Amino acid sequence: MRQFNQAYIDGRFVPVHGETVVHSVNPATEQVIATAILANRDDAKAAINAASRAQRSLGQTGKSERIEMLRQLQAAVLAHADDIRDVTIEEYGAPASRAQWVSQYASQCFARTADILQTYDFTRRLGDAVVQQVPVGVSALIAPWNSVAGTICNKLASALGAGCASVIKPSELSPLQTQVTARALHAAGLPDGCFNLLLGRGEDVGDELSTSVDVAKISFTGSTRTGKLIARAAVETMKRVSLGLTGKSATIVLDDADFSVVVPQALAVAFMNNGQACIAGTRLLVPRRRLEEVVRLVRAQLATLPVGDPRDAATVLGPLASREQYERIQRYIRRGLEQGATLIAGGEGRPEGLHRGYFVKPTVFAHVRNDMDIAREEIFGPVLSILTFETDAEAVSMANDSIYGLQAYVFSADAHRAQQIAQRLEAGGVLINRTTIDPCAPFGGFKQSGIGRENGVSGLEAFLETKALVTG
Ligand code: NAD
Repeated sequence: MRQFNQAYIDGRFVPVHGETVVHSVNPATEQVIATAILANRDDAKAAINAASRAQRSLGQTGKSERIEMLRQLQAAVLAHADDIRDVTIEEYGAPASRAQWVSQYASQCFARTADILQTYDFTRRLGDAVVQQVPVGVSALIAPWNSVAGTICNKLASALGAGCASVIKPSELSPLQTQVTARALHAAGLPDGCFNLLLGRGEDVGDELSTSVDVAKISFTGSTRTGKLIARAAVETMKRVSLGLTGKSATIVLDDADFSVVVPQALAVAFMNNGQACIAGTRLLVPRRRLEEVVRLVRAQLATLPVGDPRDAATVLGPLASREQYERIQRYIRRGLEQGATLIAGGEGRPEGLHRGYFVKPTVFAHVRNDMDIAREEIFGPVLSILTFETDAEAVSMANDSIYGLQAYVFSADAHRAQQIAQRLEAGGVLINRTTIDPCAPFGGFKQSGIGRENGVSGLEAFLETKALVTG
């Protein structure tokens, strides 16, 4: 059994002062694989102090020094890619192919930001003014449990590229992944305090970060519920806040699309990351008169979908991350049935042949109305709702009838028609005839899916303040 009781503060792994113990459980076996003692408010204060000291010199660095630091981080994280992959499978249950992708993505974040810095202009002239983009200051980077190494590295790359020292707080539900990621980042050998990392709860460590007068910026990824708490807490010290929040994405399949190709793609975006993805396309909107065909294709696809051991390269759907997640999905499946949706695949309980682990059946409902809970709320598991429309206009209005607006998907044989629909969707991003994002494109949500953008130039600018020097 692995045990952790350390935080990474001021360039060193130091014992935490907290007393709360959490257990890490392998979701495929339900075995406890590690215990960790969580950091507390005192540890958070120490981390903020270390970041504040580092900020003085980091804020003065030029592009070339930051590029060099980003390259060091890229190399160090790449050297630990196999460890990151293995722990993402072991603690989180990600299928091997997904975990492999995460482990590469983590190091690529640093490479991309280094490339952006090469050409980014931190100073421009506008009228009589010299307009500078300066580091916003010490930044808190808060991550969710469904994306640990990726979120940490993406936020850290942007913060550091902008010249901001940081305190990173991953979810208390991912101690092993946090530990492995911290070791990888430490191996880069950056100056002490440039980034600090602690595993702690939201109610003390998270709250300290959200309220401290010495933290200038919060970059948060997580639920809309927590995002609101953070935004309220942060306003007292007027922190800059970026929020990447909950999603309930719609996938629109137009009648001219090749359904035999597109329906499997729609299932893939619904069930990505075991369905535990903010951008999962969990509302599938299809033409009403083609519903039977879609149901047939969905059933055929799911009949052979490999569900099981996440270490197996063939597995598409692994276990959910925790017992709480398993129970949550069961509740939503029951609610779908109670509210009158038609179950066309999956349902309650574990898939056949799997007797332990937090495995759920990939589940699809048809005849879903947009006012049902399964169409309105983020389920965060492999549960797809199929809704139907008559016209393109109806598809758009159903997709937009949500308090969320993170990402949408449109599939059509006619690129122009798909573009026209995409223009009218209230979402921070729309993927047209593709299932993967472009990591250089701004990423974030409309409505209650967030405030601000990550990735690429937008991600960098989220950690910059604009300063105008006007001379007479
Ligand atoms: P969560 O909101 O419960 O927790 C996220 C983080 O916030 C954790 O580190 C947690 O400890 C911390 N936290 C909790 N209370 C806090 C407080 N009062 N102050 C400061 N920090 C606090 O979310 P989760 O369950 O870990 O993650 C799943 C959610 O994240 C889903 O809703 C998903 O859609 C969303 N998500 C969004 C994106 C995006 O980019 N939009 C990406 C991944 C996940």
